[in-house]
Amino acid sequence: MPSEFTGKHVTVAGLGVSGVPAAKVLHGLGAHVTVVNDGDDERARAQAVELEALGVTVRLGDGDTLPEGTELIVTAPGWKPTKPLFTAAGQAGVPVWGDVELAWRLRGLDGRKPAPWLAVTGTNGKTTTVQMLASILKAAGLRTAAVGNIGVSLLDAVTGEQEYDVLAVELSSYQLHWAPSLRAHSAAVLNLAPDHLDWHGSMEAYAADKGRIYEGNQVACVYNVDATDKPSTEDLVRAADVEEGCRAIGFTLGTPGPSQLGVVEGLLVDRAFVEDRQKNAQELAEVSDVDPPAPHNIANALAAAGLARAFGVSAAAVRDGLRAFTPDAHRIAHVADVDGVAYVDDSKATNTHATEASLAAYESIVWIAGGLAKGATFDELVTGAAKRLRGAVLIGADRALIREALARHAPEVPVVDLDRTDTGAMLQAVQEARRLARPGDTVLLAPACASMDMFTNYNQRGDAFAQAVRELGA
Ligand code: ADP
Repeated sequence: MPSEFTGKHVTVAGLGVSGVPAAKVLHGLGAHVTVVNDGDDERARAQAVELEALGVTVRLGDGDTLPEGTELIVTAPGWKPTKPLFTAAGQAGVPVWGDVELAWRLRGLDGRKPAPWLAVTGTNGKTTTVQMLASILKAAGLRTAAVGNIGVSLLDAVTGEQEYDVLAVELSSYQLHWAPSLRAHSAAVLNLAPDHLDWHGSMEAYAADKGRIYEGNQVACVYNVDATDKPSTEDLVRAADVEEGCRAIGFTLGTPGPSQLGVVEGLLVDRAFVEDRQKNAQELAEVSDVDPPAPHNIANALAAAGLARAFGVSAAAVRDGLRAFTPDAHRIAHVADVDGVAYVDDSKATNTHATEASLAAYESIVWIAGGLAKGATFDELVTGAAKRLRGAVLIGADRALIREALARHAPEVPVVDLDRTDTGAMLQAVQEARRLARPGDTVLLAPACASMDMFTNYNQRGDAFAQAVRELGA
């Protein structure tokens, strides 16, 4: 079937997770596809062989020269906007789309009615919220999937055989940057803390890219009432150009006002999608239906519920969907209780914002932290958590930064500084944490740092922690 892509000269920037499928889809639609890639390693060569066999042109080792005749660039989301390739594209008037923009434009190309998107972004909690949302939509009997950085890829979801009634879509700030025409049914920005600023150039630019998720929303822009960051997610809603009649819906851990979802006496309640919201509220679920029932995760559940309710889902389906949801590994996962002390793995807390949420979830904590700090500072984090720290065990390359913040803001907290970065250090860290802990405490792995100095990734770090805890109990 001819399409706007037939015969078009498209340059795909970047091999890899999004580039290879994008090149294949575009080639299948009759486009003349050239892939450009900075790297020229073994993996790239293997991918190039596969694509060239289909008839795609691949240029390895030069991602900066615009191929002659290019009419459109489809870029991997991570490529920086300042790259010379994009400067050249700008000068030549060539549009640049990301993988999400491509997926958005391919909806309905096969003649089927496109499924609306319920979209989620934020600095932390995206994956969890999108999975909760998909679980709720499924409980409502809708054909859906969690898509984006998780589960089914966006391209597969819009071009594959499977038909959907609605999609729960996770979007990163990079993806939003490159998705100018995306128009979600409804969208949520969970929170906004400085992250990826080297890529975006400034906090304002980062926030503006996140805020694009609200552009053109049809039914609801869901925002975080409690967030104190500036600009707030509510500011982003105000700045967006939405469809006539689209509503701003807040979520809060406090008592909800009209047009908000919130918490009242251990219940998640909806004061937005009810008749006469000045007087009425609808019970959705109990706080204990959310796993884990930590404050930040209740916020995620409320955001997911807000999007589902905007799509017309019943209160009962919200409850059933939340009950059916189990978090992915290494996200506040309860590993075991040993001698009255709980051991919790939040290895996914790789930045200070996530760790702040994690530390806020427990009363008395022995904190295992450290790794690669990625330029972060720890003063605010330590100040906020100081009262709840029984002790701290520090690991990894940048542990001195956390040690110094503890010395400045919580000098009374005992600190064990482990001067080793081998993988086995985790066993010693857990043993030291056990020594510091008292019954009723939580030993919490929430490193506030990336893991690559000691581990392959945060999964391996979390597994090492769980293994060490099992050895304690043995
Ligand atoms: P993302 O997809 O945005 O990286 P995840 O759901 O995978 O988010 O969670 C990442 C980390 O952020 C976890 O360590 C989790 O404990 C923490 N987290 C989850 N939700 C929130 C939230 N609403 N606010 C702050 N931190 C959060």
